Amino acid sequence: MPDSISMLPSGACPSCGTPANYPEMIGTACTQQTGGRRCTGKYRATMAASDWMICSECQGAGRVHERHCQHCEGLGLRYARPQFP
Ligand SMILES: [Zn+2]
Ligand SMILES: [Zn+2]
Repeated sequence: MPDSISMLPSGACPSCGTPANYPEMIGTACTQQTGGRRCTGKYRATMAASDWMICSECQGAGRVHERHCQHCEGLGLRYARPQFP
């Protein structure tokens, strides 16, 4: 788990869980594409460290087989509670 809130992304998309790396992204449309369809969610600010978990694809490394991990945008973390109200 992340040690402090300062390490965390600024927010996440509640629909698909994609992290938002920059504060400017909060409130803007999610750009993630799944199965050829663009996600309809908007990034929202997150506050709690417990909202985040280590990415299962890259085990927190941010890279998979020497490549940028698409699952977590290279952060090594995934939002743990997609679909919040
Ligand atoms: Zn999304
Ligand atoms: Zn990852």
